[in-house]
Amino acid sequence: MRKKIETNAIRTQMERSQYLEHSTPLHLTSSFVFEDAEDMRASFAEEKERNIYSRFTNPNTSEFVQKVVHMEGAEDGVSFATGMGAIFGTFAVLLESGDHVVSARSIFGSTHTLFTKYLPKWNIQTSYFKVEELDSIEGMIQSNTKILYAETPTNPGIDILDLEMLGKLAKKHNLILIIDNCFATPYLQQPIKYGADLVIHSATKLIDGQGRVLGGITVGNSKLIHEIYLFARNSGSALSPFNAWILSKSMETLVVRVDRHCQTALTIANFLEGHSKINWVKYPFLKSHPQYKLAKKQMNQGGSVIAFEVKGGLETGQNFLNALEMLSLSSNLGDSRSIITHPASTTHSKLSEADRLEVGITDGMIRLSVGLEHSEDIKNDLKKALDTIK
Ligand SMILES: *Cc1c(COP(=O)(O)O)cnc(C)c1O
Repeated sequence: MRKKIETNAIRTQMERSQYLEHSTPLHLTSSFVFEDAEDMRASFAEEKERNIYSRFTNPNTSEFVQKVVHMEGAEDGVSFATGMGAIFGTFAVLLESGDHVVSARSIFGSTHTLFTKYLPKWNIQTSYFKVEELDSIEGMIQSNTKILYAETPTNPGIDILDLEMLGKLAKKHNLILIIDNCFATPYLQQPIKYGADLVIHSATKLIDGQGRVLGGITVGNSKLIHEIYLFARNSGSALSPFNAWILSKSMETLVVRVDRHCQTALTIANFLEGHSKINWVKYPFLKSHPQYKLAKKQMNQGGSVIAFEVKGGLETGQNFLNALEMLSLSSNLGDSRSIITHPASTTHSKLSEADRLEVGITDGMIRLSVGLEHSEDIKNDLKKALDTIK
């Protein structure tokens, strides 16, 4: 019988060794031995599926991949050393010189750098649509367009893109739809249901959930995944067995962790929205979010990240951060510890003010990744810091 995704995240397990361990052991080995010369020949000829070398596959990476594959409703998957490794590896396989990509403008910074700085070196151009102008996508599609690319919710703007609409557009124009599902996790939203061909995660974020290891994964259509696997196997951005073991264990608690992240984030978003020193708050499951209905349709819950703006601009934003006592000033997200960042002075400081505004980053904008601490303690830290700013 088909099991629920919560159960698959826990019960998907590789075969046990002769020791019959209950919890999957860590397979720290670079290579695997063959029974005899024939076994070795057949393994290399891909006549049988087995582990050869840990740059190709390893029991720990395979277990992690299968857990995400089940949760996303995908056919297959490939793991990478980082989220960016997964994104670059996926582009490297699918794109050729002369190809064109249509992407949302509001995407992770390093992904944007790949589009603007590196892909053009191989004669691959990208057109960008604004997240509030999905109607403009069709006009950007050219005869050489191959990929439609987006994230939802977006970082750090917390905008929601209509997955069903993107899926239909991709199908109509025969494009490969790729969704970076990092902010939603495989638990809150499964883009494959809406027609995504490939889904990418930075496992560094909520999948690890405790700020320990880096990892990445691409899942989806098995034909595309096999091509991506061959590239990963030859290009060397392999997920380490240790990180895979950590991530595989993390998957077992993903659902309960994300439930709590979302519950606390909604409480904090409501608190911030009512505060006199805050201009606006953006959280997918707040009724005031411009795409609230869409968020409700395609996500189970609102996620762990809130964007908000303190009154007063850049300096006030920085004073606010300095007045916090518990919340960490760090650039990660999806950690058990709440993390706060000021995009205008940090992650997006290299952009001009006009470019920042285009993706919704105002000078007073703060991004809060709500952790697993008690909601009262998170609220009190924010409240005290807000009280100190003028
Ligand atoms: C962090 C992040 C990435 C990159 O992942 P790494 O594991 O840091 O390489 C990609 N996309 C999104 C949305 C992210 O938040």
